[in-house]
Amino acid sequence: MHYTQKNAVFAVYLFTISLFAALLTGCAPSGGAKGAPRSETAFLLDTVVRVTYYDADDAAAVRDSLDLCAAESKIFSRTDADSELFRLNAAGSMAVSGELLGVLRTALGFCAATDGRFDVTMGGVSALYGFSSDVPTVPDPGTLAAALSHVGWERVGIDGDTVTLGDPEAVIDLGAAAKGYIADRMKALLTERGVESAIIDLGGNVLCLGEKPDGSAYRVGVRYPEAGRSDAIATVAVRERSVVTSGVYERSFVADGVAYHHILDPETGLPVRNGLRSVTVLGPESLRCDVLSTACFVLGLEEGMALIGAEDGYEALFITDDLALHPTAGFAAAMER
Ligand code: ADP
Ligand code: MG
Repeated sequence: MHYTQKNAVFAVYLFTISLFAALLTGCAPSGGAKGAPRSETAFLLDTVVRVTYYDADDAAAVRDSLDLCAAESKIFSRTDADSELFRLNAAGSMAVSGELLGVLRTALGFCAATDGRFDVTMGGVSALYGFSSDVPTVPDPGTLAAALSHVGWERVGIDGDTVTLGDPEAVIDLGAAAKGYIADRMKALLTERGVESAIIDLGGNVLCLGEKPDGSAYRVGVRYPEAGRSDAIATVAVRERSVVTSGVYERSFVADGVAYHHILDPETGLPVRNGLRSVTVLGPESLRCDVLSTACFVLGLEEGMALIGAEDGYEALFITDDLALHPTAGFAAAMER
């Protein structure tokens, strides 16, 4: 895991808060009491990971789910030299785990469905910006063009469990899918361990288990799609569903007065600018919600609506630059006013 100094300080700060919270909740009735929610936090996947739970007996399972998250992040990181994806990108052709293969297959399905506007081989282009570094930069046009020449999901081949890049300079990036998949895995662990009520939050990629112990729905906020704001523009009532957002305010920076965000157009290598601020997807599987939110974002309002409409059980909220809300019927039904 790569920690910038800034992030390390942030992580320590959060850890202190969660320790403090643990001390406070230590006063609550113990022995499996389902009282006020408790949470465990870790800095993983370059973001703050938090699991909130209601039953004191679930603490050990929750800690194990965070360990699982740490182990899973060792598969999908583009930048960690120990990760399986890093080794695949370096080797150009390699037999991979069922987990990496499964996520890649799902992602490639959306590369086809979006005619390559969602493209898993954008890694070389994303890397040029250094979005998660302390000094993100705008690449010069020549460097950008060179990186774009190695983008092309169609050249990725799968034969049994062997993945071949086709273009050895291509770099696979699963940043639009990994968090969703890992959330699904964490949920499976928690469910197997008997946890009935919990919220897994991987930096805004939310997955709710069951409902609250009192039988009510969780209320999940959709953030105002503006940098520096953390209040909710909408709230959805959620039971046993995932809620995932892709937006322009994540990992964005300003250079020469122009805002740059991390969802990039495979044609130009520049951030997608299509009038959308964010897309939030609600559905049963977090992996699919994650990929769909990014895929709908790159497609824009009209085509994104068509994509989500073709996905059974998945609903979405598109927010445009004028901060107008465009929900699907099912999403509107889950929204609280
Ligand atoms: P977040 O990291 O905030 O959850 P998303 O799920 O929306 O964000 O995914 C954004 C990530 O997807 C980027 O950080 C990058 O790794 C990758 N990406 C950027 N542009 C594209 C694209 N056109 N197609 C596929 N993946 C992309
Ligand atoms: Mg996504």
